[in-house]
Amino acid sequence: MSLMLYNDLTRKKEPFIPLKEGEVGFYSCGPTVYDFFHIGNARPFIVFDVFRRYLEDIGYKVVFVQNFTDIDDKMINRANEEGITVKELADAFIKEYFEDADALGVRRADIYPRATDHMKEIVEVVQTLIDKGHAYVVDGDVFFSVESFPGYGKLSKQSIEDLQSGSRIDVNEQKRHPLDFALWKAQKPGEPAWESPWGLGRPGWHIECSVMSTKYLGNTFDIHSGGSDLIFPHHENEVAQAEAATGMQFVRFWLHNGYLLIDKEKMSKSLGNFLTVRNARKKYSPLAIRYFMLSAHYRSPINFSEEGLNQATGAVERLRNCWTDLEYALQSREQKEKDDTEAFLSEIKQAETKFYEEMNDDFNTAGALGSVFEVVRLINTYLKDNSSIDFKVCKAAQTFFTKIDGIMGIMGLESEKEELDTSEIESMIEERTAARKARDFAKSDAIRDQLAEKGIILEDTSEGTKWKKQLS
Ligand SMILES: [Zn+2]
Repeated sequence: MSLMLYNDLTRKKEPFIPLKEGEVGFYSCGPTVYDFFHIGNARPFIVFDVFRRYLEDIGYKVVFVQNFTDIDDKMINRANEEGITVKELADAFIKEYFEDADALGVRRADIYPRATDHMKEIVEVVQTLIDKGHAYVVDGDVFFSVESFPGYGKLSKQSIEDLQSGSRIDVNEQKRHPLDFALWKAQKPGEPAWESPWGLGRPGWHIECSVMSTKYLGNTFDIHSGGSDLIFPHHENEVAQAEAATGMQFVRFWLHNGYLLIDKEKMSKSLGNFLTVRNARKKYSPLAIRYFMLSAHYRSPINFSEEGLNQATGAVERLRNCWTDLEYALQSREQKEKDDTEAFLSEIKQAETKFYEEMNDDFNTAGALGSVFEVVRLINTYLKDNSSIDFKVCKAAQTFFTKIDGIMGIMGLESEKEELDTSEIESMIEERTAARKARDFAKSDAIRDQLAEKGIILEDTSEGTKWKKQLS
């Protein structure tokens, strides 16, 4: 079964066939770097990270581009409040972005273009739009004329008339049509500005994404993603600008994630339920946050609640416990050829097939996680019922978990392997075991405490002392 994706452009599930065989160009709208990013923004970062990893897993070479919006009204206002330059503000919050995104296990994009590094390209495209009759200049501002582009509204599936009556539009006497939007804004006193044929100014928000995405991925590319709140006007305007400028189709597949509520309410600073990732991380493990985001279909709304996060934490712990149990079984139990081996191997294989079927069905991560827990149940049964085991079964399960963790990033297998000095932990455990045998409980407790400080939890079992890394 091949990958099917729901395309917001056609409102249909379609087979995903990239433009160039074996390669995928993928652009995802990034943050405006004027503050820490909030848990609602963490959703697209996590789900599109998983989609990119999945595409790589099934054999595509993916070029993943995510921009930083480093100039707009919010940037200018915040920089003025702080008494720093817009560039200083952007640099500071790009650094903070990476601290949170890295902690959430979001893999780094191949390219992180910044609007302020692309003024030349932006000015060129705006000029092309003017030359082709799609944009007009009024006192140093440049506006895109929506009536000049016959396809306007095709992404949000509304006519210009519907959009006009259905949206809040700032009244601006200079515009020919109320839906026309700024490609270039003339400098106001005190604002940073760049040179252009229309005078000093700065780009509008929409133009940066269409210019930078096509610069790195080509005039037509495979996937463009973002939150569903971006469909109109941001992505609609990107389509209009890009296609009016190049005369070619801009994006082949548009993917949008559903919104995130907090305790069933829309997150807002005025409601006092605004949650940054920085603060969420103080309470919940990044693995649990990832798991939570993947536990619903990406297009559905999701409700961030303490209960939901506790469930996610429990699920991650079950997965990690299963991994630890497998490791200990391989170390401490007797290897034996067994009659039930083939049956277990075939069930693990079936779960893996189901995992891929679910992911191929419009990235149904929720269904895919179901197949992961089928393997957890299977292994728990296997280890409980067999004192001697066939290592083939344990190794097949480990291979499966390693694979799904490489895609989902919910077990922490990769990052923790790098962080932990396993041999040091094991030699401390040996030392503790020796102390216990010698009935030196003061020493054995001291070693346990030292390990606890490193986040290592010990469990004394009939198979010896097991250790695992605490969720952090
Ligand atoms: Zn964008």
